[in-house]
Amino acid sequence: TVAVVLFTSDLRLHDHPPLRAALRSADAVVPLFVLDPGIRAAGFDAPNRRAFLADCLRDLDASLRRRGGRLVVRSGPVAREVRAVAAECGATEVHMAAGVTAYARHREERLRERLGDGGVALHAHEAVITAVAPGAVTPAGSDHFAVFTPYFRRWDREPLRSPLPAPRAVPVPEGVRGRPLPGREDVSGTSRGLPEGGETAGRERFSRWLEAGLASYGDRHDDLAGDGTSRLSPYLHFGALSPVELVHRARRRGGPGAEAFVRQLCWRDFHHQVLAARPRASVADYRTRHDRWRDEEDAADDIAAWREGRTGYPIVDAAMRQLRHEGWMHNRARLLVASFLTKTLYVDWRIGARHFLDLLVDGDVVNNQLNWQWVAGTGTDTRPHRVLNPLVQAKRFDPDGAYVRRWVPELGPVEGTAVHEPWRLPAEQRDALGYPDPLIDLADGLARFKRARGRD
Ligand code: FAD
Repeated sequence: TVAVVLFTSDLRLHDHPPLRAALRSADAVVPLFVLDPGIRAAGFDAPNRRAFLADCLRDLDASLRRRGGRLVVRSGPVAREVRAVAAECGATEVHMAAGVTAYARHREERLRERLGDGGVALHAHEAVITAVAPGAVTPAGSDHFAVFTPYFRRWDREPLRSPLPAPRAVPVPEGVRGRPLPGREDVSGTSRGLPEGGETAGRERFSRWLEAGLASYGDRHDDLAGDGTSRLSPYLHFGALSPVELVHRARRRGGPGAEAFVRQLCWRDFHHQVLAARPRASVADYRTRHDRWRDEEDAADDIAAWREGRTGYPIVDAAMRQLRHEGWMHNRARLLVASFLTKTLYVDWRIGARHFLDLLVDGDVVNNQLNWQWVAGTGTDTRPHRVLNPLVQAKRFDPDGAYVRRWVPELGPVEGTAVHEPWRLPAEQRDALGYPDPLIDLADGLARFKRARGRD
């Protein structure tokens, strides 16, 4: 017997329940990845992620080859391709990870229909993409948690399966055709500082980080210049690392750093269970409706300045330039630039979320849209009217200005915290820097925000 394993956001061999289940019930498996033109049509096929995906697929193929197998890559509408592959190899079952996005659900439905017609069973496995399955813990009277802390308390007590080892052998039948693997070198327009993708690179990074970063994570994770976070988000996005395994290994180490890291991983699961219950939250306001955002055309110059990192607020500009250069941005920086766009400039969160998805290598419909909503005050933040002041944030999280000087070279010559307020420098020095004046007075931004939200 033969089973197909459809890889999606789970591009790994370690701790992979669908692959394990397929190997248990069949004599041979076809590991399959489908490049679906629907993703490109929906505008989610950003160069940074396409390049990282190419690395992940190559690495997966190499790992499968070491186990006697290979990866079959096809392109076309996913349900059609899976059905065709199942027919070509005579498979009786297909295994995959369950997903929560509208796209993932639609894919699963279509697969169930099309495979069912041919008598092929579809098994969608839970807790592959998240540590705890969405919906596994719920509060009394609701299908999901709308507030993080009570969710975390329950999540933290949930039993997790033991991480599964990678299989020793993966027998793949002959005769199933695939297309050549995509290569990173075929992708243009990527950020220069993009990390290498794939399970092997992800596992190495995680092991290194457990040794060198975890213990101090609790104290250092908000330090912008110190860069003390794991940078595992792209590997988690593509499933090159298993969240179950990460939680286990971090807990085994223990200590405040591990606790803080596991709590952060829980945010991923939290957002997944929100979106699983409210799929529209990827596009529509989740809790509090705000439809009085500025008109996009009127705000076009402000939006462009924000995107390009020339708002005149050095901390905002540093972060936006880091995003462009690395395809990644520090979490604290994401929070403050998102607050600046939505609350100080009063621009719709969807415009900011779109720009992030165009560039982020970890760009993820679940985490991106729901974090944007959290910041914009339309989502799950219990204090939706809080506004992050970029100056206060800069002095607290980049106390000597090193982060700003790293990403905004024009401000390189300015020493110490003066770098956060270049408008206070003597006119002559300021003019010589060639750095823009602030786009908006923070007090004006705050006044508009309060008026618009009816909180004068
Ligand atoms: P670490 O601090 O090392 O955290 C470990 C892991 O925990 C991360 O890799 C990530 O998987 C998870 N995590 C941490 N914080 C969050 C969070 N707030 N929400 C969900 N998961 C979290 N994360 C994405 O993976 N994709 C996105 O598209 C994305 N967009 C965001 C947009 C905004 C406006 C904000 C405020 C946050 C966004 N985040 C997103 C969450 C967070 O910023 C990143 O996960 C984190 O910066 C990744 O860096 P790291 O791996 O070094 O994180």
